[in-house]
Amino acid sequence: MASNGALDARDRGATLSRLAAERFDVLVIGGGITGAGAALDAASRGLRVALVEARDLASGTSSRSSKLIHGGLRYLEQFDFKLVYEALRERDLLVSKLAPHLVKPVSFMYPLYKKVVERPYVGAGLALYDAMEGTRRPVPHHRHLSARGALRRAPALAPDRLAGAMLYYDAQVDDARHTLTVARTAAAHSAVVATRVSVVGLLRDTEGTRVTGARVRDEETGREFPVRAEAVVVCAGVWTDLVHELAGIRAGYRVRMSKGVHVVVPRAAVDADTGMILRTDKSVLFFIPWGQHWIVGTTDTDFTGDRAEPAPAEEDVEYILAAANRVLARPLTRADVVAVYAGLRPLVDPRQGNGGKPTTKLSREHVVDAPLPGLTSIAGGKFTTYRLMARDVVDAAVADFGRDVPGSVTDQVPLLGADGLAAVQPAASRLAEDYGVSRATVEHLLGRYGTLAAEVLKLTRDDAGLARPLAEGHPYLRAEVAYAVTHENALHVEDVLMRRTRLFIESADAGVSVAAEVAAIMGRLLGWSRRRRAAETRRYLALVQAEQTVTAVDPGPAPDRALATAR
Ligand SMILES: Cc1cc2nc3c(=O)[nH]c(=O)nc-3n(C[C@H](O)[C@H](O)[C@H](O)COP(=O)(O)OP(=O)(O)OC[C@H]3O[C@@H](n4cnc5c(N)ncnc54)[C@H](O)[C@@H]3O)c2cc1C
Repeated sequence: MASNGALDARDRGATLSRLAAERFDVLVIGGGITGAGAALDAASRGLRVALVEARDLASGTSSRSSKLIHGGLRYLEQFDFKLVYEALRERDLLVSKLAPHLVKPVSFMYPLYKKVVERPYVGAGLALYDAMEGTRRPVPHHRHLSARGALRRAPALAPDRLAGAMLYYDAQVDDARHTLTVARTAAAHSAVVATRVSVVGLLRDTEGTRVTGARVRDEETGREFPVRAEAVVVCAGVWTDLVHELAGIRAGYRVRMSKGVHVVVPRAAVDADTGMILRTDKSVLFFIPWGQHWIVGTTDTDFTGDRAEPAPAEEDVEYILAAANRVLARPLTRADVVAVYAGLRPLVDPRQGNGGKPTTKLSREHVVDAPLPGLTSIAGGKFTTYRLMARDVVDAAVADFGRDVPGSVTDQVPLLGADGLAAVQPAASRLAEDYGVSRATVEHLLGRYGTLAAEVLKLTRDDAGLARPLAEGHPYLRAEVAYAVTHENALHVEDVLMRRTRLFIESADAGVSVAAEVAAIMGRLLGWSRRRRAAETRRYLALVQAEQTVTAVDPGPAPDRALATAR
């Protein structure tokens, strides 16, 4: 494995051969943020690690979140102080040291509508939130705003009843890119990372008492083979119960699925220069700035359908728009909605004592279980606390190794692209000149690849066409598609359009109009025939239809819904 952690999709055969041939210390099941984090935690302790992911890295919940790295203000109200404290520490570590290229501070305004009671209550909560942060402060303190000050920052708010606002800071991340970067960093520490490889059974020793690895299936060919490991770690999110069932075991908890939906609207639809958080009857609603868009959400409802494609429902969209419109001067309509996406929270439901709690009240803390010797599993938690989850599950997995295993060091392991960032940022203009691209393009790349941005630009030296934008009106370069294949393990068009780039949620046509171009760039590298390219393009269209059922059912009156026609 290259030391830059390149996950080259063209080397997939070699990767699978290694999986089959080597004996690993730790086999991680699941390539969401928890599994990628566990692989990095174990690999950076010097262990031999393999990670298998049934579909694509971050294709489960870890590409479908609110994309906030936050303490979770609302958990303070639930007196979940430990969770908030730990999450704030993690946020600050990510912003300042581990992933400053990916995790960026963002401000949120909390509008106040009850003059007397609300300000002291929210103010006290935010003061506590700020106080829980460490002594180093990578994000600024909260501030009080008058009604006039609030309207200056967010003219979109309806002025009537507005009594003022609080402004506080958290951080945000491209969740799929962060997960990929953690997995690549694990690979840079020698982990073997394989996607579209599912665990279909667990191996046991001759006495049948200890788990000794897993039987896996290559989802591209259907071939099955065993992978041997001293410890198997289940990081399967909402699929955890299914993996436990594969092993015929009853773990100490079940995973309850809670669906969360977000809508994406253009930045121009809501005039504000800060994110916003509103209280709703059930929970909170965020307006999260996202490039040229806002992500608005989320919902929180029990879910029992297909885990792989948690399609949003019409009533989810209506709920979000209605909640947003309670405070906006110009209401959002279906015509504003560019995309809708849904994700499933893997909430821990202990076998006793849940008493049918609604999912908003279930703890976001994580649970580690060791249901069998050689098998450890983890569920729950939040994206923000993935590093701690990874540490805890690896600690549990190596507990019976009978030899000294070093403790977790991931608080000292910057993710790929983070090291030396301070020296690369000032050189942005020079990089732009060297490669004949705009400074805005270099900044876009720095925000996605950090110090590895030059690797992407280098691809344009051999093929100048790769320096062209992939989709009109979006900052992605064609070179990013090629890089996704050669360094980021992209095997199919959807890997590029849904996760390596975010055109699926950022483009009014969900990236459908550039799917054939993506297939062409990928196909040149992966040796796809013309027929295969067409099949890959069709496969993407089918996925878009399956995942964006809401907009297909009711595209609304918007003239710019090319998506509806493309489908
Ligand atoms: C709507 C929503 C908003 C959220 N917002 C935030 C937020 O703003 N901030 C925050 O901190 N957290 C947030 N979260 C929580 C956070 O996103 C999740 O806790 C986290 O992404 C879960 O990651 P995971 O790795 O445990 O699960 P997943 O990302 O689902 O990964 C599990 C992986 O296991 C794979 N898998 C399953 N079975 C097998 C098998 N048999 N073989 C191989 N692989 C298998 C799956 O394909 C999947 O990729 C949000 C969650 C939701 C749903």
